[in-house]
Amino acid sequence: MYKAPVEEIAFTLKYVAGMDRAMEEGILGDLSADVLDAILSEAGRFAGDEMEPLAENGDRQGAKLVDGKVVLPDGWEKLYRDWIAGGWNGLTAPEEFGGQGLPHMLNIATLEMWNSASMAFGLAPTLTMGAVEALNAHGSDDLKKKYLAKLISGEWSGTMNLTEPHAGSDVGALRTRAERRDDGTYRLFGQKIFITWGDHEAAENIIHLVLARLPDAPAGTRGISLFLVPKFLVNDDGSLGARNDYFAHSLEHKLGIHGSPTCTMICGDGKHGTEKGAIAWLVGEENKGLACMFTMMNNARLAVGIQGVAIAEAATQKAIAYARERTQGRAPGTTAAGMSPIIEHPDVARTLLTMKALTQGSRAICYACAEAIDMSHRDAQKAKYWQERAALLTPIAKSFSTDAGVDVASLGIQVHGGMGFIEETGAARLLRDARIAPIYEGTNGIQAIDLVTRKLIIANGDHVRGFIAELREIADAVAKSNLDGFGETAPRLQAAIADLEKTSEWLLAKQAEGAVAEALAGATPYQRLFGLVLTSSYLAKGGLANAGDGEGGKRIALCRFAAENLLAETAALSDRVTSGASSLEAARVALA
Ligand SMILES: Cc1cc2nc3c(=O)[nH]c(=O)nc-3n(C[C@H](O)[C@H](O)[C@H](O)COP(=O)(O)OP(=O)(O)OC[C@H]3O[C@@H](n4cnc5c(N)ncnc54)[C@H](O)[C@@H]3O)c2cc1C
Repeated sequence: MYKAPVEEIAFTLKYVAGMDRAMEEGILGDLSADVLDAILSEAGRFAGDEMEPLAENGDRQGAKLVDGKVVLPDGWEKLYRDWIAGGWNGLTAPEEFGGQGLPHMLNIATLEMWNSASMAFGLAPTLTMGAVEALNAHGSDDLKKKYLAKLISGEWSGTMNLTEPHAGSDVGALRTRAERRDDGTYRLFGQKIFITWGDHEAAENIIHLVLARLPDAPAGTRGISLFLVPKFLVNDDGSLGARNDYFAHSLEHKLGIHGSPTCTMICGDGKHGTEKGAIAWLVGEENKGLACMFTMMNNARLAVGIQGVAIAEAATQKAIAYARERTQGRAPGTTAAGMSPIIEHPDVARTLLTMKALTQGSRAICYACAEAIDMSHRDAQKAKYWQERAALLTPIAKSFSTDAGVDVASLGIQVHGGMGFIEETGAARLLRDARIAPIYEGTNGIQAIDLVTRKLIIANGDHVRGFIAELREIADAVAKSNLDGFGETAPRLQAAIADLEKTSEWLLAKQAEGAVAEALAGATPYQRLFGLVLTSSYLAKGGLANAGDGEGGKRIALCRFAAENLLAETAALSDRVTSGASSLEAARVALA
């Protein structure tokens, strides 16, 4: 049974992601620590008491297409309505349209809880929030007036429609066709695949944001436009009109997230008795659709990163609970009679601590990324610094956390032994659900390319250099703290930061000399190296903050464990980046 780690979440927000300081300085409006704690604790209650109990059923039943309608698992429609009634959908949305205008950090923290309780369910608001953001940033005043308030309340849900059979990572290859009409609207014809929560009956209407190409558009990514396509047309008085020609043709059978309807959407096939072609409104300018999508990319990628954290948290809780109960063998040095709880075996404890360190580390990275996004909007004096930080942290938050989600869920199964492989413990579902997160919203391989070719080179590498200097300050503070509990943390962290620095400079130099393929061969190990250094740095920051909540000793002990058990990997990763490329090229023959 998942119990939201409300105190740990609040601690990480306040002392690792800087929310405490931001609240003190008034950067977060009138948000106070008390209000923050109250919101987190109510979210935790809802996630644990109301959402999680329906997760297993959601997995077993899955979403189904019945007589042209998408049927959600039992109880999910009511769950959705109860959830929106709590106002959760509009936490960060603009107040002008009924949102609460709260910081993104808070939303990411609550998203973690929804996704821990049920990732398949958590996807619904994730997509709606993405649609709200895109529409708010790029929609005309008329579109905003007509659609935003209902999307923000959650009465209507939203979707993002990019992928087509021939256009996945390469969105520029998409073929969905848009035609202009004299009345200023457009008609869309084509097919989208893998559309999350593409159709369902829980919301009264669904607002699809769809990428399509006009007949005279330039080729590739510069010829893509963004359109708004409502499931039901909306009359001027806000009431719902005719059904639009955008239908779920089929639902995918998937490895996980069974409760989330993943739809193939078709428009313009004339099979549903509607006017042919989906009636659509342009969002932003013609041929600027991808740029519109990019403005919300940081948030959307972070929202997927937090899914990794969420799964890792749920898997860790489950594994620790099982390891306390399950008895097998006798742990070394035990004096008690009978078999020992498996948590007492050093190998199991190491596994559990690795899970915990990766969970807390990736949480800290995601929250720090959310902090940077918030500050880039709220801290005018340092806006550029925060924009660069958000840009840099986004691919790491997305990829490191979703990889951690998969790794931790897999370790969780291992801790359960054979029972982990049996569905009834729920450990298997977590791994099945986790596996999509490194794939969608830009695969982790694409994130690594983004990190190396776009983010590392920000300000000619100076932003990363400045960040590395900040991380060194944390390591130095650990050294100066003279706290025995940190053990070898300071020298280990300093060595890992040196690995990061050396590898970053190597990648910058390779790109400067035009050896891009060489740099890209090491992109994924570099991404992990960065994530591991951040994990240890942020665990140390948390340990140093010791908020007097009685958990300080535990935090320092976990930080030491991570530094002395996980950080040695950075030297190997650095070696893979700087020495691996030529053997990779040479070994292509082995793939022939
Ligand atoms: C359950 C589910 C839900 C989804 N929800 C949505 C949604 O709501 N809306 C939506 O639009 N899409 C959605 N998607 C689609 C998802 O975003 C894509 O699957 C993803 O972007 C990868 O595209 P692809 O599947 O075509 O893989 P490909 O692009 O074919 O990639 C295959 C492999 O090649 C690698 N690769 C591809 N190009 C490059 C390159 N240039 N350099 C290096 N490596 C490369 C990738 O990293 C990957 O490992 C969903 C998918 C699934 C399975």
